[in-house]
Amino acid sequence: MAASTVDTFLPEALQFRSPTTLVDIGANLTHESFDRDLEDVIARAQAAQVNTMIVTGTDLSHAEQAIELARRFPGLYATAGVHPHDASAWNAELAGKMAALHAQPEVVAVGECGLDFNRNFSTPKEQEQAFEAQLGLAAESGLPLFLHERDAGSRMREMLAAWRDDISNAVIHCFTADRETLHGYLNLDLHIGLTGWICDERRGHHLRPLVKDIPLARLMVETDCPYLLPRNLPAKLKGRRHEPALLPWIVREIAQWRGVSEAELASATTQTAQRFFRLPTES
Ligand SMILES: [Zn+2]
Repeated sequence: MAASTVDTFLPEALQFRSPTTLVDIGANLTHESFDRDLEDVIARAQAAQVNTMIVTGTDLSHAEQAIELARRFPGLYATAGVHPHDASAWNAELAGKMAALHAQPEVVAVGECGLDFNRNFSTPKEQEQAFEAQLGLAAESGLPLFLHERDAGSRMREMLAAWRDDISNAVIHCFTADRETLHGYLNLDLHIGLTGWICDERRGHHLRPLVKDIPLARLMVETDCPYLLPRNLPAKLKGRRHEPALLPWIVREIAQWRGVSEAELASATTQTAQRFFRLPTES
């Protein structure tokens, strides 16, 4: 089938090779939409110079699957955490299982965890308990945190401030909030992950002037695929599934708003990600 080859699945207009190697710090490659063609997805990512992918683990079973992928494919690493949506599942037994995953060599961060007061699939109280416990696990393991926050910026900053001296590092993944929240995070010496949200002229325009405020040494890039297909693509994508091979289009958009070249942004974000997740530098 034509759909299974690297060259034909992505329309030619969307094939865009980054000038230098990239790290996609947020790829939900355990999502069922990747089941049928994951090997091709990874081959296409490598063809685009997206050679390293951090596979997001959002609950116990997805974290275990992320670790399996990291064992199977060179250049893939895993995070292990419980997403705020699933915080109601948190208990002592789950905490023990997550701590065991954090000891696996494939796991490079605690998360995805945090607070989401936008949807409240778990109550704010359950979210705070699960997050507090995972801050403790990050402190114990020494791993950095991969954080999710939506409409919960001030509570998030309070909780992080209390733990800041005990945790090594943290990235606010898929940052979409306002200037005040951004500076609150930067003042806590946190890292910022940007997705294709910034390419969305309907809801991402407030991010564009903020990008200059993020020091290059604290900025990383991510697809959050299969979600958040960027809206700056020059051609339509059947199925609208986002994938790591499209990360260079996001880098292009951020570089434009940051006022740097794509090559400079690519190499800076890669160095930052290698340092943050303690990746081997040849990856
Ligand atoms: Zn998230």
